[in-house]
Amino acid sequence: MTAEFITIEGIPKPASRIALGTWAMGGSMWGGPDDDNAAKTIDKALDVGINLIDTAPVYGFGHSEEILGKALEGRRDRVVLATKVGLNWQDGQVFRDSRKARIEEELDASLKRLRTDHIDLYQVHWPDPKTPFEETARALEKSVQSGKVRALGLSNFSPEQMDEFRKFAPVAAIQPPYNLFEREIEKDILPYAVTNKLVVLAYGPLCRGLLSGKMTAEHVFTGDDLRKVDPKFQQPRFSQYLNAVEGLKTIAEQHGKSLLALAIRWVLDRGPTIALWGARKPEQITGVQDAFGWTLSKDDMAAIDAILDKTITDPVGPEFMAPPARS
Ligand code: NAP
Repeated sequence: MTAEFITIEGIPKPASRIALGTWAMGGSMWGGPDDDNAAKTIDKALDVGINLIDTAPVYGFGHSEEILGKALEGRRDRVVLATKVGLNWQDGQVFRDSRKARIEEELDASLKRLRTDHIDLYQVHWPDPKTPFEETARALEKSVQSGKVRALGLSNFSPEQMDEFRKFAPVAAIQPPYNLFEREIEKDILPYAVTNKLVVLAYGPLCRGLLSGKMTAEHVFTGDDLRKVDPKFQQPRFSQYLNAVEGLKTIAEQHGKSLLALAIRWVLDRGPTIALWGARKPEQITGVQDAFGWTLSKDDMAAIDAILDKTITDPVGPEFMAPPARS
């Protein structure tokens, strides 16, 4: 089965509905980098039909973009390249910064690290409460006019914030968290995307590995791995999510699929979505094709909801990841 594609307005090449997420390749917050495996993962992604790759300057403080730039040399035209803007850092501390000067500086730094003259999708990583959206939007619109950027996206924005931003610059895509365990966007952001014809790049489709089907209660996270502080991975809540995983596996088995394929398929069946699969080893994405060529029925969706309702009695979202505002 070949990949499914979706068009993001302003980007000539249709994007694969499974994209490669490269946060972990940067190393920081994921226990350290492994450049050799990262490069092989990018090769593998292209081999299995993935053409959208998502990164950000903050992933490894430039390292993820550097790996990608190197890996794509000579074949940049094969991919829809998505990166982000609007975070800054000092002494390893990340904060929001979408001022015009920061955007101009970051754009040129990203182009250099990515070894390209244009970014296909340029996304504001987090809304900056200390900078008027007009300032950010006008600076980004200028980058589209100059040809350095093809289309703009907004990540972690509320509908009200998107409305305000879109008064000053057109937006083609959004990037919120979305997976079987993190469904907050269904109440407002997903309907907003449908109404306004925005493509949704769903981040964390495997819920940081919980939905890989490989996670156990004994799993030990090492180094600076963010799951040491992720409230989903703390007991007794961790066990609730693992019980949900066991229930979801039965639905996957009914389709002859893995839990991981079910988790990705579920995201793809919920709207105009792209699943941003976070991988850093080539073998992790060998199963991409299993998520294509089938769908979940209404009955499957209802059975899934019943499992989640029964097992997760103390749900929590991904809010712990939000970086602070500029001080
Ligand atoms: P994710 O895709 O939900 O999960 C990544 C985790 O899944 C990793 O722990 C990885 O294991 C595991 N995994 C992947 N394939 C696997 C396989 N075949 N078998 C077993 N485990 C597997 O989470 P994410 O990386 O947080 O999110 C994906 C992407 O979304 C990021 O890379 C980034 O591009 C984007 N993102 C954006 C934002 C934002 O604010 N805009 C926030 C978060 C993420 P290992 O740990 O063993 O590698």
